[in-house]
Amino acid sequence: MNKFIDSHAHILREYYPRDKNEVIKNSENTIIIINGVDLESNKEILKTIIKNDNTYGALGIHPTEVNDYELSDLESVFESLDNDKIIAVGETGLDLYWNKDNFEKQKEFFVKHIEKAIEHNLPVIIHSRNAEEEVYEIIKGYKDLKSILHCYGGNLETAQKFVKLGSLIGIGGVVTFKNSYQLQEIVKKININNLITETDSPYLSPEPYRGKRNEPKNVEYIVEKIAEIKGEKPNKIKELIYNNFVREFDLK
Ligand SMILES: [Zn+2]
Repeated sequence: MNKFIDSHAHILREYYPRDKNEVIKNSENTIIIINGVDLESNKEILKTIIKNDNTYGALGIHPTEVNDYELSDLESVFESLDNDKIIAVGETGLDLYWNKDNFEKQKEFFVKHIEKAIEHNLPVIIHSRNAEEEVYEIIKGYKDLKSILHCYGGNLETAQKFVKLGSLIGIGGVVTFKNSYQLQEIVKKININNLITETDSPYLSPEPYRGKRNEPKNVEYIVEKIAEIKGEKPNKIKELIYNNFVREFDLK
């Protein structure tokens, strides 16, 4: 039986200090990939995925966190990539919105994540903020790389370039917002086989919960919106996205 897919969430005690376990339990019809952002969260993820069947992990250091680390710190993170429930590398990428000054360092970290992803035959989950062209220029050099552009915020033309590379375009709660014309257009024009759903919990709650703390179970509203845009039944979209997930992450 297929499930909803939340390919990007941060289900960490930091954001769910009182009810982290309940949030996961309440989302039992959703497969959740919890994404690491720093050393501490990566460790927490390894514990969470043992205890909860519907959770998987992605390990990495977020581009806005790289100033706190050296490249060698990644070694301890990547030691756990052979764990069966670690199914991606990330969250990694480039962020030119919060920080332009350390662009070279961000690039070094990003490339290291990419190389590890290829070595372990895992997809890489990419954060790109105001940096779509820069990300594209880097990943197009890696033919065997599987990639997900998480919470894609670029334009349609660049999305189409990513799709040509085989990337999946991550669609989150923003697509349900009234004036997200650009993203809705992307969902309309890009083939469903190239899309994947996510919540980015605790951020970016979809309508009707916009502004509130997000949870993986809200991915349902994102599926509904994609279905509306595509003129399909939500169940059909759910099934197709599930198939994309199984294919991308090589799960049986
Ligand atoms: Zn994230």
